Amino acid sequence: MLQFKQVSKYYQTGQIQQQALKHISEQIQTGEMIGLCGPSGSGKSTLLNICGLLDLSYQGELYFDGHKLDNDPQHCMILRRQQLGFVFQRFNLVPVMSAFENVEYPLMLNKVATSERKQRVMQILDAVGMAEFAHSKPDRLSGGQQQRIAVARALVHKPRLVIADEPTASLDSHTAHQVVELMKDIGKSHQTTFVIATHDSRMSEHCSRLIQLQDGQILAKEAAACVA
Ligand code: ADP
Repeated sequence: MLQFKQVSKYYQTGQIQQQALKHISEQIQTGEMIGLCGPSGSGKSTLLNICGLLDLSYQGELYFDGHKLDNDPQHCMILRRQQLGFVFQRFNLVPVMSAFENVEYPLMLNKVATSERKQRVMQILDAVGMAEFAHSKPDRLSGGQQQRIAVARALVHKPRLVIADEPTASLDSHTAHQVVELMKDIGKSHQTTFVIATHDSRMSEHCSRLIQLQDGQILAKEAAACVA
């Protein structure tokens, strides 16, 4: 699904150059749920931005479904729209849109017909237990409910890859558990691949594999809990 070959990333701030990722080589298989962990500053966000095709200015090679990605913003934008979904710590729902409209948005971008959109949005809202809140605006919903909407929005267009940045960090334990289970359940039927940056053991214990970063390098790959 995703292959990194010797990927490095430098940030330039004035005269100072900071190497945020150092020669990352890694392969992520279809259907894996990868937990990306490591202390603050270890490179998680940088790697997540590259996985999400949001940052194209890295060194080395990245392959998506076996195809080498060039530094082509237009191509990456189309891949993002069609094949990727995103879940953020702070939900990032559009406040003026209802739950239904937020979830519908990726389908609109992908030019799915109106009748099919309605059916797919209601189906996934039902799957995340939020059908009765379809017409609610985000500010009428709890954090857990908003994150369920955000999960529905990330998965409604059946992306191949979902990128999640601390998706459970703002949630209580019970809700965090529900959100993780939803991501797993909905993703399973479509062989969705997940890359999830997390400090949260409630999240990482559900991952099929953990990648631990330290100082921009992969420290260890293990199936056990992550030490953040
Ligand atoms: P994490 O997500 O694990 O906290 P980051 O990927 O945000 O780590 O950061 C990795 C390193 O890159 C850190 O040393 C950080 O200071 C640096 N860094 C991140 N973003 C920028 C930026 N936009 N400009 C300069 N340095 C940055």
